[in-house]
Amino acid sequence: MKLTGKGIPVISEIEFASRYTDAKIIGITGSNGKTTTTMLTNHIISEGNRNVGMAGNIGDSFAKMVAEYNFEYYVLEISSFQLDGITDFKPHIAILTNITPDHLNRYDYKFENYIASKFRIAENQTEEDFFIYDADDEVIVDWLKVHPVKSKALPFSLQNELEEGAYIKNNRIRITTTNNTIEMTTDALALEGQHNLKNTMAAAMVAKLIGIRKETIRQSIENFQGAPHRLEKVLKIQHVQYINDSKATNVNSVFYALDSVKTPIVWIVGGVDKGNDYKELMPLVREKVKAIICLGEDNSKIKDFFGNVVDLMVETFAMEEAVKVAYKIAQRGDTVLLSPACASFDLFENYEDRGDQFKEAIKNL
Ligand code: ADP
Repeated sequence: MKLTGKGIPVISEIEFASRYTDAKIIGITGSNGKTTTTMLTNHIISEGNRNVGMAGNIGDSFAKMVAEYNFEYYVLEISSFQLDGITDFKPHIAILTNITPDHLNRYDYKFENYIASKFRIAENQTEEDFFIYDADDEVIVDWLKVHPVKSKALPFSLQNELEEGAYIKNNRIRITTTNNTIEMTTDALALEGQHNLKNTMAAAMVAKLIGIRKETIRQSIENFQGAPHRLEKVLKIQHVQYINDSKATNVNSVFYALDSVKTPIVWIVGGVDKGNDYKELMPLVREKVKAIICLGEDNSKIKDFFGNVVDLMVETFAMEEAVKVAYKIAQRGDTVLLSPACASFDLFENYEDRGDQFKEAIKNL
């Protein structure tokens, strides 16, 4: 702030690093799904034997990669904070996974400021570039109506058939770009859940755009090992599946987690609430959640909201305790799901620590 006040430009690290490489950049942003989509995109491209590096919010910094390697492609996970500090940064292919209210404290509590920040991923793109986005996301679609992008827009959808872009029909992904269509079954996908179908469509579309063979794309979306702490299957104990979704720090990602689990759920939830509105979870909680285990310093909001909805609610203040209670409650065929909807820093160092403690506690059962 002091520097900008003196007229000294402050740029973000991706802006800086991008000035020193001619590599083709694939930039991935959104409120949820960035890491998964980035890792999957990187996986497919490297399975296609392209010289590709992954950086940004994930792994090493982009600048370090540019300084030390000579990749032909970079897949970058990009936060809105990084986009706030760009001037000329231009990905050849941009993905916008979705937009839901998050980090609003940084944007004067104005949702439109946050949306505008996310859309900066496309602001320097030209007609030769591509913009891949979720056509089922009303926030994105409404924004595009008023602020169209210059690049070639390629939507993906779970709901509608699209002439161009990607959609699902009869358990098959259909991707059409540059007048050419490929189709793949969704039966053997490595990643479960509707949200991951979206992430898969987005990543596969990138791979198709850069000319990776359909057979390679199909194989790599089937053999991809997901990122830890995101709907990560930990263990099955006495026919109870334990799933670590510690990275689910907002309501939207919990929605997809609850949606993707097909059995009754013992749900471990709580932490530092970033202004959650739990309303959209209500139908799924009624349908699937048999017990809630609160895990946070202050669980009052969760208790108020769901107290009358589930048969059983238990308050805990440490991971080991939460897992032990879950173990007692869960019956054959159930799933114990850690999907907190909240940040972790009341009881843990970060979401990785929370997920690791969860896994450790399960192994000690
Ligand atoms: P990010 O890097 O944007 O935080 P992650 O891939 O780490 O995204 O996923 C964060 C959480 O969001 C996880 O709980 C995951 O299951 C969920 N998620 C992943 N992809 C999506 C999506 N497309 N839409 C909504 N939620 C998603």
